[in-house]
Amino acid sequence: MSVLIAGSIAIDTVKTPTAERLNQLGGSASYASIASSFFAPTRLVSIIGHDFPEAHMAILKGRGIDVEGVEVSDGETFRWSGEYHDDLNTRTTHDVAINVLEKFDPKVPESYKDSRIVVLANMSPQNQLDTLKQISNPVYTIADTMDLWINLAREQLFELLAKIDMLVINDSEAKEFMRTNNLVVAGRELRKHGPKEVVIKTGEHGALLFGETENDFFRCGAYPLHEVEDPTGAGDSFLGGLAGYLSANSKDSVAFDDLKQAIVHGTVMASYNCQSFSTDRLHSLTKEDIDSRYAEFRRFTAF
Ligand code: AMP
Repeated sequence: MSVLIAGSIAIDTVKTPTAERLNQLGGSASYASIASSFFAPTRLVSIIGHDFPEAHMAILKGRGIDVEGVEVSDGETFRWSGEYHDDLNTRTTHDVAINVLEKFDPKVPESYKDSRIVVLANMSPQNQLDTLKQISNPVYTIADTMDLWINLAREQLFELLAKIDMLVINDSEAKEFMRTNNLVVAGRELRKHGPKEVVIKTGEHGALLFGETENDFFRCGAYPLHEVEDPTGAGDSFLGGLAGYLSANSKDSVAFDDLKQAIVHGTVMASYNCQSFSTDRLHSLTKEDIDSRYAEFRRFTAF
């Protein structure tokens, strides 16, 4: 089963307490598609400008990602820059140049329309809705979002929630969206707006999965990393790994047990992502790297 991933492709500048990297490959869809590509054929819907470096495109193509759905516009590529604070958990966004994303009208190529797992990575909820309506019969649809859209496009987000199977969101955003300080309440309330499942990411503490009943709950820790070089894109890599795993391991429907495994695989991909700037560690992984960290993680969490 193929995975369709729609979202941003960006040129990022990232500063951490120890280093700074300019003009590197970024964007929600870049991270998610690279992570997914280790598990399943992956198709990308996004937009870049005339200034997008060929070397960045080579990274995506090098992972065998189908880029037919990546529009090349005359404008300039979306750019984002951020700086991490000492704990590497919080960051300040310095600059966002929306550029080609401002007028983005996602077009899903004919050859993508049979995609079974659909990932609406972070971009405007309108772009997410416009992508979703072009796909005929997906088995499972997953969307991510961010605080910007919770503040700017709350109503469209509710419209999106009613149409997707899973929402993936981080802890502070889930609380902000549902106007509560309790994560469990946030997870359960978000489900009431439509998605069958809600995943709340808790950064270095892992992720929580909320399903249909009170019993359908799963908590996954994060892989213990001694050193984090750059956490940018960890959430997107988690999302891509989760979707890719589901695509490779489920048939006509998605069972709760499949979701638990998918979350663990997403966690493994996110952990590798944090070990380098941009997608450097992620795109150079091997299947053996993924399998060995999965086995190690299993040993660390089973009792
Ligand atoms: P994360 O660390 O998971 O929040 O993802 C960071 C990535 O999201 C960066 O590579 C950015 O280029 C991208 N990004 C930041 N803001 C936006 C936005 N408003 N829309 C789409 N992508 C964004």
